[in-house]
Amino acid sequence: MSTIQTVGVLGAGQMGAGIAQVAAQAGFTVVLVDITEEAVARGMKTISSSLERLVRKERLTAADAEAAQGRIATDTHLGAFASADIVIEAVPENESLKKDIFGKLDELCKAGTILASNTSSISITRLAAATKRPGRVIGMHFMNPVPIMKLIEVIRGLQTDDTTLEAVNGMAEAMGKTTVLSEDYPGFIVNRILMPMINEAVTALYEGVAKAEDIDTAMKLGTNQPMGPLQLADFIGLDTCLAIMNVLHDGLGDPRYRPCPLLKQYVDAGYYGRKSGRGFYTYGG
Ligand code: NAD
Repeated sequence: MSTIQTVGVLGAGQMGAGIAQVAAQAGFTVVLVDITEEAVARGMKTISSSLERLVRKERLTAADAEAAQGRIATDTHLGAFASADIVIEAVPENESLKKDIFGKLDELCKAGTILASNTSSISITRLAAATKRPGRVIGMHFMNPVPIMKLIEVIRGLQTDDTTLEAVNGMAEAMGKTTVLSEDYPGFIVNRILMPMINEAVTALYEGVAKAEDIDTAMKLGTNQPMGPLQLADFIGLDTCLAIMNVLHDGLGDPRYRPCPLLKQYVDAGYYGRKSGRGFYTYGG
């Protein structure tokens, strides 16, 4: 199977923009697709600000930043992925949406194109079942913020083939990332462990154990975490955190994964965290 040269990224949100950026910085040709022109423009703005920051910090030359940006084409139609060697999906954490997209990608992409999902928790095996190429479907779980975080959790679905795994590991290495391999169980490695901790922090707030700032300071200074769990939840997106807790709860069937009612209520209110301006803390203004 040929090596990866052209990378499609679907969804130009927090994660998709970051994935497009690191792929372009590594020299891949990138096509970034979202549903509207506005969403694509927002994604490109995120990328240019991030590249500018790297230049200011002298971690990238201005010429390399410009070249990386020049390698990213944008579109609002899935048809733009016709020549992609891999498509990495980064749309919201919703299984029926992702299955629908995988079915469509399967129909319009080349036979050998790898279909990867950046899902935080949804079964790769089930997404693969929405296609006629389950061997070429894999999980590539990037961490947020993608340009900074070193890890990619690679998730092997039940039918993922070895050439797909090798191609994705090679691409991750080219992007300067370290991979870990997880089998396809709810939450994989990182979120299986992280989300119950965040959910417990929300429960502590809900039960009035302490205020948000004190919960975060306790975990930062008491357990040497760079960011407290509530601040991290705001950073990830409370809608994403709730979706992952639901996947753990449904997939593992254990009541200890029940999402905290306060987390549900915040999401109902549109308090999605940093991206909406309000979560456990308020942002921007
Ligand atoms: P986000 O809300 O920032 O971005 C999602 C993007 O998808 C938006 O730009 C939206 O317009 C677009 N979109 C929605 N429907 C679409 C469609 N049908 N076709 C194309 N684009 C569509 O979300 P995010 O935080 O970037 O999360 C994306 C995925 O990455 C989720 O599966 C999430 O679980 C996963 N993830 C998130 C984090 C995190 O910290 N936020 C970390 C790792 C993985």
